[in-house]
Amino acid sequence: MIIAIDGPSGAGKSTLAKRLARELGFTYMDTGALYRALALKVLRQGVDLADDARLAALLGSTAIDLREERGKLVVLMDGQDVAGDIRTPEVSQMASKVSALKSVRARLLELQRDLGKRGSVVAEGRDIGTVVFPAAEVKIFLDASVGERARRRNQELCADGRAAQLAETLREMEERDRRDSERDLAPLCQAADAVRVDSSAVDAEQVAVIVLNLVNQRKARKNYRDRS
Ligand code: C5P
Repeated sequence: MIIAIDGPSGAGKSTLAKRLARELGFTYMDTGALYRALALKVLRQGVDLADDARLAALLGSTAIDLREERGKLVVLMDGQDVAGDIRTPEVSQMASKVSALKSVRARLLELQRDLGKRGSVVAEGRDIGTVVFPAAEVKIFLDASVGERARRRNQELCADGRAAQLAETLREMEERDRRDSERDLAPLCQAADAVRVDSSAVDAEQVAVIVLNLVNQRKARKNYRDRS
């Protein structure tokens, strides 16, 4: 079974996806972490995104993988865990830039589908229900007002010891949302058959209850269909 969770940054996708994965015993797939790991390598190597040859060489020589160890997500980039290095605002912006490129999306699409073969998954991102797993049994589009999303992201950054100004976080978020929604390839958008959940005024627990109810209904329907 595949559960696809899409939506803009800061809507609560990770919190929801981790919770569902834990409760259902599914694998958690953070697809943004794949784009972030690649962006980190681009930044570390100073690759110019307009330089097709260097970008192709980087894509061909970079190994990215996701694992879970003792309940924590491990993001492997060339065998090294970079989970602690990929959440900076600089990596966020670069991830959004690299993710608009055709060669990058093609490479990571293949990787995501391979990871999806490991069993039942809860995958979160921008194009999971539309492109990566269009046949997912459950599709959620999780949204919230941009002000609320920026406030939450700012809190996370501060809790992480990275002091940030709310106005700056909001500006960066709007810039990233715009780039992710307006790109030609696999833009952020709600799949026609996705259920939209707005988390602006409800907390993470309430969102989880709404979605778990939906998952249980779909599971029952799938079991019924499989039996008959
Ligand atoms: O979800 P997260 O904020 O970690 O994603 C970082 C960036 O990666 C997004 O802003 C987006 O540009 C890109 N991304 C994407 N498709 C996905 C997941 C993430 O384009 N499925």
